[in-house]
Amino acid sequence: MEQLSSRLLALSPSATLAMSQKSQELKAQGLDIINMSVGEPDFFTPDHIKEAAKQAVDNNFSFYTPVPGYMSLRQAISEKLKRENGVDFSPAQIVVGNGAKQEICNVILSIVEKGDEVIIPTPAWVSYFEMVKLAEGVNVPFLCGQDQDFKITASQLESLITPKTKVLLFCSPSNPTGAIYSKEELAAIAQVLAKYPRIIVIADEIYEHISYCGELTSIATFPELKDRVVIINGVSKAYAMTGWRIGFCAAPLWIAKAVTKLQGQYTSGCSSIAQKAAEAAYTGPQDCVETMRQAFERRRDLIFGLVQQIPGFSLKSKPQGAFYVFPEVDSLFGKQTPDGKTIGNASDLAMYLLEQGHVAGVTGDAFGAPKCIRFSYATSDKNITEAMARVKAAVERLK
Ligand code: PMP
Ligand code: GLU
Repeated sequence: MEQLSSRLLALSPSATLAMSQKSQELKAQGLDIINMSVGEPDFFTPDHIKEAAKQAVDNNFSFYTPVPGYMSLRQAISEKLKRENGVDFSPAQIVVGNGAKQEICNVILSIVEKGDEVIIPTPAWVSYFEMVKLAEGVNVPFLCGQDQDFKITASQLESLITPKTKVLLFCSPSNPTGAIYSKEELAAIAQVLAKYPRIIVIADEIYEHISYCGELTSIATFPELKDRVVIINGVSKAYAMTGWRIGFCAAPLWIAKAVTKLQGQYTSGCSSIAQKAAEAAYTGPQDCVETMRQAFERRRDLIFGLVQQIPGFSLKSKPQGAFYVFPEVDSLFGKQTPDGKTIGNASDLAMYLLEQGHVAGVTGDAFGAPKCIRFSYATSDKNITEAMARVKAAVERLK
């Protein structure tokens, strides 16, 4: 007899991972699927990072690691934050975990009380909402459309704030839209938050190096927000290290301590070998990051042009960062597939494109944007071109 907790039952499975799993299953059945569902760089981890991991094995980095991560890695992250982001976080304020994902969840579980409100400008990454649910917090999504470049304005943010607001959680460059908040936009947001000193900001900067508009500003640089910004980042995207599972939070000391306590009870410190690899990523040559960024920028231009040619897809401006396109597709809702099924929503469309077009994307519903569909372009030019041709042909078959 199944006896699952209500906490578990309330949780939705990750739509990005589910779609990727489904496309792998179809591939295993022999179908030629192009997987643009999950977002991860298609590059191999740079050699000098792999070398550091091999050395860590040989040098017997095989024992339990400190719960918040090796001091040498936290030192390297602290220096990275100073050098690249202009912010001061001591190693004691940094906790390394199994990917940025774990650290976002740890922070939420550490500070969100039952009933606390978490403002999430949407479209937003699928897992945020579920993490808030896990903490018994209340999601306060605010849908920002294409007309405002998928970004929340300072006055919209202010209109959402109540005495129960505990956290503003946002991501720039954004998954799934690629939107980037400018320094001016962040300054306006910081000015609003200055009036509400209890609100903590969780700034997910995991895509910071995949930017097509130059240097980014971190919201943690604004003095009004001193001691209440948590930066989330990691090596997955910048260094093509998704499978190594290293991410971190840089937080006010009281949050870093809480996260360490939580982590100490349910996962301990993360993999010794992966931490030594991440240290090499942060301290070694950085040209690999720029090489990959340039490839993503070229692909962004390629896919943006191809999306414009797909009937019923609307994407007005080029994404400024990350590696996703997130067109609106609602004008296709209500159409019929060749075998007589109705495309009622974005999930139906994603399923139709997978099964009939053999291209995997992710429905916008999962990101709080039911009119949209997401494709990751972290794949070869050839795959991008072929995939968008398939999507176009499949959409043209709808009546
Ligand atoms: N934040 C965002 C917005 C993401 O897209 C991802 C990728 N899954 C993560 C956090 C987590 O990355 P990871 O756990 O691989 O560090
Ligand atoms: N960030 C990626 C995505 O959004 C990885 C999958 C996940 O963890 O959700 O597709």
